[in-house]
Amino acid sequence: MATTQLRNFVNGEWRVSAAQEYLDVVNPATADVLARVPLSPAAEVDEAARLAAAAQQSWARVPAEDRIQYLFKLKVLLEDNLDELARTITMECGKTMDESRAEMRRAIENVEVACGIPTMMQGHILEDIASGIDEFMVRQPVGVTAIIAPFNFPGMIAFWFFPYAIACGNTCVIKPSERVPMTLAKVVALIEQTGLPKGVINLVNGAKETVDAILDHPAIRAISFVGSTAVARYIYSRGAANGKRVQAQGGAKNPIIVLPDADVEMSTKIAADSFFGCAGQRCLAGSVAVTVGSARDIFTEAIADAAATRVTGYGLDGGVQMGPVITPQSKSRIEGLIQKGIDEGASVLVDGRNPRITGYERGNFVRPTVLQNVAPTSEIARTEIFGPVLSLIHIDTIDEAIRFVNQNNYGNMACLFTSSGANARKFRNEAQAGNIGINIGVAAPMAFFPFSGWKDSFFGTLHAQSHHAVEFFTQTKIVIERWPQEWSRQF
Ligand code: NAD
Repeated sequence: MATTQLRNFVNGEWRVSAAQEYLDVVNPATADVLARVPLSPAAEVDEAARLAAAAQQSWARVPAEDRIQYLFKLKVLLEDNLDELARTITMECGKTMDESRAEMRRAIENVEVACGIPTMMQGHILEDIASGIDEFMVRQPVGVTAIIAPFNFPGMIAFWFFPYAIACGNTCVIKPSERVPMTLAKVVALIEQTGLPKGVINLVNGAKETVDAILDHPAIRAISFVGSTAVARYIYSRGAANGKRVQAQGGAKNPIIVLPDADVEMSTKIAADSFFGCAGQRCLAGSVAVTVGSARDIFTEAIADAAATRVTGYGLDGGVQMGPVITPQSKSRIEGLIQKGIDEGASVLVDGRNPRITGYERGNFVRPTVLQNVAPTSEIARTEIFGPVLSLIHIDTIDEAIRFVNQNNYGNMACLFTSSGANARKFRNEAQAGNIGINIGVAAPMAFFPFSGWKDSFFGTLHAQSHHAVEFFTQTKIVIERWPQEWSRQF
């Protein structure tokens, strides 16, 4: 059977790209080629952006209450197709079906929150700012917006942005990750079924050349990016140099601190999902566990057991708790970093390198790995691994642990396990990260809260989701009015 060639969706039509080059979309567990994705040239971005700009003129005039009706329809379609979408995520990205379903639930949550736009988008007014003069602020859409997504949440991440963007009266060009473009193609096919006016949502597949065309296109006014720090920094600089508003979320290296007063059994269970869930390919994955004082021995033993017993395999198979990593290159990079940790003096407590997963010998599997005696200043303690690899660090006091957290270049998430309210309070006040978990291993904000990190994990001002998204996707306009009675024509 011929491999499906993915198409772009521009101005309400599925179009075959004129790309010179297509990439294989490969199932990371089986190495089967699932589809081929075009690396769309700049001309196709140009066409999508121009048509999106034309569509935006009339879309902005559709009442907010009518705009959100499409989102209500989309929510129902997403619910009805949840398993099919989850299956696609598992096939192209590798996570387990439960993880894929949870991802889509988080996506749907954003649709639900964006349905509140008629309230969230309101401005404000003050009468009589001076005698007989009123002043008010309204929010208007910014125009055409673009979303550039990473591989690790093929469905959810675009939802941090587009429901808010379109509900606010913008149109949108989405560029999925070229490694996992199938899920968003299915999402866009569902959006098409809602009857959304043509040109409001557009999908252009591709990689760097396509992204550069987005960054440089004069009609695109705002860019939402999620991916690695190096690319986030580039997107932020080039987008800003072209006068666009940009929100660019980058990588992470998330520490989890375990105090001696924590319920270690419960903490280990929760933290294990943070370290090894989604094969460590979450921007909110714990990557370093810092045990304080006497927490060390008991936590080390429990987490080693959790790592060694986690069932690794193909996410579509029942009972599997962890899937593969995304590419063979990713696998060798992760295994290289494990070796680097060993070379720096760490010892391997659980070694997940080069596992044999029966039936899936061609998959990119790395089993959960635990390194102990990792030096806080070593490279492995500071580098984003983005795989199921945990570094154990031991520190004597909570103050030193917080110092370690704050020396991190990244600032996406930091978590503390404790039974002390005072320690929890100290930590949440002092830890420098955008998301703090207290007895939580993956501190992912619900859609009704903004989401982003600090430091090298984020470039920009306004975060994803919720009110921040509404602010990002609107520009404020101030109106000052005077209507003197004596100027009124008599009738
Ligand atoms: P990536 O940076 O390689 O790619 C992200 C997007 O940028 C893709 O659409 C890709 O096509 C494009 N891109 C890649 N290289 C580019 C270049 N040189 N110029 C222009 N565009 C380019 O990231 P990834 O590997 O797909 O995703 C994993 C990374 O994303 C990890 O670092 C992870 O921490 C991060 N991430 C962060 C968050 C967050 O909320 N902070 C969420 C998810 C993932």
